[in-house]
Amino acid sequence: MEYRNLGKSGLKVSELSFGSWVTFVNQLGLKTATNCMSYAYEHGVNFFDNAEAYASGKSEILMGKILKKLNWTRDTYIVSSKAFWGGQLPTQKGLSKKHLHDACNAALKRLQVEYLDLYFCHRPDPETPIIETVYAMNDLIYQGKILYWGTSEWSAKEIKKAHDEAEKNNLRGPLMEQPQYNILHRDRFEKEYKPLYKKYGLGTTIWSPLASGLLTGKYDKGIPKKSRFTVKGYEWLGESLNSVDLKKIRNVQKIATSLGITPSQLSILWCLKNENVSTVILGASNLKQLKENLDSINHRELVDNKIISKINKK
Ligand code: NDP
Repeated sequence: MEYRNLGKSGLKVSELSFGSWVTFVNQLGLKTATNCMSYAYEHGVNFFDNAEAYASGKSEILMGKILKKLNWTRDTYIVSSKAFWGGQLPTQKGLSKKHLHDACNAALKRLQVEYLDLYFCHRPDPETPIIETVYAMNDLIYQGKILYWGTSEWSAKEIKKAHDEAEKNNLRGPLMEQPQYNILHRDRFEKEYKPLYKKYGLGTTIWSPLASGLLTGKYDKGIPKKSRFTVKGYEWLGESLNSVDLKKIRNVQKIATSLGITPSQLSILWCLKNENVSTVILGASNLKQLKENLDSINHRELVDNKIISKINKK
């Protein structure tokens, strides 16, 4: 495992990390989730991603139990949460000072930790002035409840505004953004955010490197049983099949076969090739998948610039 600085910070994050969206609680119970986190940690993963919205808080409860049981020392891992979708009532969502304060305290309790390393605004909130959010995140930093703050799926304009407001008020702007980035979903990361990497030293913790599994090729002949698109409440993900670029997916399969690796491994290595990626957050619904995905780094020398352009050309 290699470690990359999270943007301009000194925080060393493992190039591959592990997240809990959809999988924790819905697909992974205590035993398998423990095995996955344990395997990941033993293989160099130091960052575990979560959010208040995941399984309506139950994903954090599960991860908290595991962190307690595994008893790793707190200085050896990074854990995150994200705020935005907390509950149905007006005070339970969005990025107001109140919701960020309440959501952070609730996440700390559920995860059973004293502080969060990374705390994200899970989406932009057009109904809260950005300066209020910037202040609220800085307050959480001063209170020692979070170390670094960032955004997820904010536009470049919104990230810039947060930095402008922070600078005017001598506060810290967002250190990192958590966007979707994979072979099928590239524009925002590569084009819209391009000026931000240098200007603000923006780090990135990228999500869905396999486009929820599409890039594994498992959906080539429809939706297989027990795959993510059949998980209750996530059937909407299946809509992506109507617009997916099958030619691209088949090309990835072809190149992966020629290299003797799996399409998942090639897709993950493709993400890692981009130097603006600080960490690729992996998802897995069983240990076998996680092992395969983590093993990708043992084949990194196979994926050179020629292979990358072969993938990008299609
Ligand atoms: P992926 O795109 O890698 O999808 C993971 C899913 O793909 C698995 O759960 C599994 O689904 C399938 N899969 C993974 N590996 C394999 C394999 N080797 N062979 C076959 N199938 C495989 O990542 P996620 O979408 O899970 O995103 C990763 C993390 O990013 C999340 O856990 C979360 O922490 C974060 N995230 C953040 C978001 C944000 O808005 N900030 C949004 C989404 C995710 P199955 O077996 O069920 O088919």
